[in-house]
Amino acid sequence: MSGFKTLFLTISKWLGLFYISRRLTRRGVRILCYHAFSTDGDECDFRPKLFMRCSTFQKRLQALHSAGYPVITLDAALQGLENGNLPACATVITIDDGFPSVYRCAGEALPRYKYPATVYVTSYYSVKQNPVFRLLVQYLLWKTSVTTVAVPESLRPLRGTFSLGSKQEKSDAADEIIRVGQEQCSEEQRLSLLQGLARLLEVDLGRILTERVFHVMNREELLAAAAKGLDVQLHTHRHRFPEESGAAAREIIDNRAVLEPIAAKPLRHFCYPSGVWSKNHWPVLAREGIRSATTSAPGLNFPGAAPYGLLRMLDSEDVTQIEFEAEMAGFAELLRRIRGKSRAPSA
Ligand SMILES: [Zn+2]
Repeated sequence: MSGFKTLFLTISKWLGLFYISRRLTRRGVRILCYHAFSTDGDECDFRPKLFMRCSTFQKRLQALHSAGYPVITLDAALQGLENGNLPACATVITIDDGFPSVYRCAGEALPRYKYPATVYVTSYYSVKQNPVFRLLVQYLLWKTSVTTVAVPESLRPLRGTFSLGSKQEKSDAADEIIRVGQEQCSEEQRLSLLQGLARLLEVDLGRILTERVFHVMNREELLAAAAKGLDVQLHTHRHRFPEESGAAAREIIDNRAVLEPIAAKPLRHFCYPSGVWSKNHWPVLAREGIRSATTSAPGLNFPGAAPYGLLRMLDSEDVTQIEFEAEMAGFAELLRRIRGKSRAPSA
């Protein structure tokens, strides 16, 4: 964040504008969104929007606690949005994807404050127990200091020579490898492709694989997370939600088939993968008995909000504490409205 923005927010807070905003927006439900956590790795540098230091997450929970934001369940928030009966500045914590670090970090930290949270789990990699292919390819390319790589015969169907001298070249190479892996390889081939690439790119995957940094929680971890009070919910099976209604429904059905036996209850809350959503999806959600769907669009949710277009605050390692406070206070939302950037979907 720029020094100017920090100064602006700090002065605004000092002038009492956060206090006033919090009062003005008290009927708005704050839905926080997290992804994965890290204790000692470099994944926060790789993807600061995806990985948050566990210590930063603990600071956020402490800040919510000190400022007295009531953290409630997603179910309670939805009920309140329907009947208008909500505590002031009601807050919901959601965590996307289901990385094992959720269990390790959030699973430890949340019970200390007795805060409930919803974890949206994408199930394909939970079943396969291989690292998320796309993410690990991007990590390998980000991490490597090799500047050119000629793909050997053994890594077919991938072929060619990749220049990796610049960020753009690395990003293009990652896109091409992901395309070939997804279109032309089986899951087993993708795994050997990852191992071959790691050797070629001279990246040691020891910790990444042993700590399962880019994996998704397995059945036992999900059961343990649920036992700790984390509410396991839907996020599609393959982390995609096609426009075509049959294929979209299939994603929810396959996701449920894995998660409902673990959660031991009907799952009715959904999170759009990669924040891609449209109103065209809403009939599919209704047919599948979905009660709520969260997006990645920023904002607060006021009574009467469209339950399939819930807005969230994406918190991450590159959000500073004062920015977090500005979001929670509703000050950031008021600024977006003044600038005409608020995009609350209508019901
Ligand atoms: Zn996701």
